[in-house]
Amino acid sequence: MRCYKCFRPKEFCLCSFATPQIDSGVKFIFLMHPKEAKRQRTGTGRLAHICLADSEILQGLEFSQNARLRELLADENFLPVLMYPGNDAWNVNDENFAKMLFPKNSFENQNEKIATDAIHARKILMPIIIDATWFCSRKIIEHNEFLLRLPKLSFAKNYSSIFTFKHEPRPECVSTIETCYYLIKELQEAKIVAQNVDAEPLMAIFKKLISDQLRAENERVQGLRPSAHCYDWKYNKIREIPDFSKTSETSDSKGAENSIS
Ligand SMILES: [Zn+2]
Repeated sequence: MRCYKCFRPKEFCLCSFATPQIDSGVKFIFLMHPKEAKRQRTGTGRLAHICLADSEILQGLEFSQNARLRELLADENFLPVLMYPGNDAWNVNDENFAKMLFPKNSFENQNEKIATDAIHARKILMPIIIDATWFCSRKIIEHNEFLLRLPKLSFAKNYSSIFTFKHEPRPECVSTIETCYYLIKELQEAKIVAQNVDAEPLMAIFKKLISDQLRAENERVQGLRPSAHCYDWKYNKIREIPDFSKTSETSDSKGAENSIS
């Protein structure tokens, strides 16, 4: 039995972590590879979606003809940006990013950024996040090169995931839910998102997901829980469940072999 909202097994439902929803003033769009959508056991895009008040999941492989995405990209109230690294990517501190976001504002005073929201002098930032493993995310880009023509946004700082996976070739690959978390934090520092927005539930729900998952895997290894894997050989040793109460930003999770994206 699965929760119809977070798609987690009912006993591991994480929905209580997502109330109240985070109203960041940013519209998050998650592009989900169909394969990723099936692997709901580990995906974090869906969890990010239930945490974030203004967010949408769009599923597919070809998005150029996706009616909803076209509608959103055509809406002048939004500033769509593809969350994607690269030399040509903005970060939240770039002047050009601010100019695009606040087209009618000279933004001489940083504090006016939020105040001017009311008079529509700013666009609503709409980060488009490819919710997929690195491999599937490259597939989505290959099928949707138009996405690369959107302005790109990347992080101002470097982050590593609190939980790393062998499937991710680069340590700097952070999960979708962490992407949302760090982006909101950086937007707050840049005074683009209000200071009273609390992004912590995103991290809390991610930590709960990791602990629940490792605990369930360990119970399978111990024979306390029926196995749900067709590749059981991978799960033959007990793994340490990280103590997230000690460290908030980093964690050692060697031995993790499944992928969370
Ligand atoms: Zn749920």
